Amino acid sequence: MLYFDYTATTPIDEEVLDTYLRVEKNLFANSTSLHRLGQMSNHMYEKASEEIKELLQTPDHNLVFTANATEANNLGIYGVVLKHASGRIITTKIEHPSVYEVFKDLERKGYDAVYLDIDSEGMIDLQQLENAMTKDTVLVSVMWVNNIIGSVQPLKKVIEIVKRYPKAKLHADCVQGMGRIKPDFDFKELDLLTLSGHKIYAPKGIGALLYRRQIDLEKILHGSDAQFGIKPGTISVALAAALCKALKKYLPQTVEHYRHVLEMNRHLRQGLAKLDYIVLNSTENGSPYVVNFSIRGKNGETVVHFLEKEQIYVSTGSACSSKLKKPERAVYFLTNDEELATSSIRVSLSHLTSKQEIDKLLENLEKAKDV
Ligand code: PMP
Repeated sequence: MLYFDYTATTPIDEEVLDTYLRVEKNLFANSTSLHRLGQMSNHMYEKASEEIKELLQTPDHNLVFTANATEANNLGIYGVVLKHASGRIITTKIEHPSVYEVFKDLERKGYDAVYLDIDSEGMIDLQQLENAMTKDTVLVSVMWVNNIIGSVQPLKKVIEIVKRYPKAKLHADCVQGMGRIKPDFDFKELDLLTLSGHKIYAPKGIGALLYRRQIDLEKILHGSDAQFGIKPGTISVALAAALCKALKKYLPQTVEHYRHVLEMNRHLRQGLAKLDYIVLNSTENGSPYVVNFSIRGKNGETVVHFLEKEQIYVSTGSACSSKLKKPERAVYFLTNDEELATSSIRVSLSHLTSKQEIDKLLENLEKAKDV
């Protein structure tokens, strides 16, 4: 099997799985129970939370474990915006649906939503952001690394701009950057950030929302006061510990893995450049983990199913929207070309990817021309 869909999800790491199983077996008590067993679970939960905050160097943020990044994005964005009866909210045209659709919903509720354009490299225009900022702006949400085209947004500069507006909070979806790209900004400069376990070799079912302690989030879920009342309910201490283990293992390897993936990316791009029917959508300036291209006249889905017969797994775009045969939004805004956006294919790489795997993919892409 050749797996090239690491952006959709990663296989679980054996050591992370061991952590999960060990904690689930030994510390099964409810972390809110008052007895000693419960307190042992609570201690592990707090340890995981503190260690993650230490790794990210966000000592003044609250950390809320969520089911995934979708939930974290929802709780964070609604949590900030619904505190205000009205106001401007700013995001980009290429956010993941778990941000984009929340903005669409808030727009329907009467908030003044602005969607920033991207250029031919998939980057937002900082001047457009500056122009869009007003004293009534309550939230800006800009993703770090795009999951479809791999563009890496200039968050350091975004932080500087948003800081000038005291009412505005800055949220960044950090899912695709975490453990893959070395940030040129400090996580602690973000008012809110989200991440997902299953993108970094942790199990599915765990994500996190970190937000500055001073921020009073509107509660979307109602229940106990566990996790600051933002995500009430029984905590999976084992999933929290597994997420912590994955971050502890993979964050220190970010630069080394990046180097390897960059080499794989170049090898793939060189191979793709020889296939004249392939149009590269993602540029070399983005994350090397994501390569997006199109075969004109071929539906992306047809190519995915052709390759799958050879046990080669690629994607048409985000797993979340791949069942809908729509043009891929991020590719459309990148290329302004509906045909390219409908025929787009995303190959995503990992430190586990080898040159031999890429060669096999390229061999099969040659045959894909005629499917
Ligand atoms: N944001 C980005 C950038 C993503 O790539 C994804 C997953 N495709 C999500 C959010 C949602 O993550 P989860 O699957 O954990 O809800």
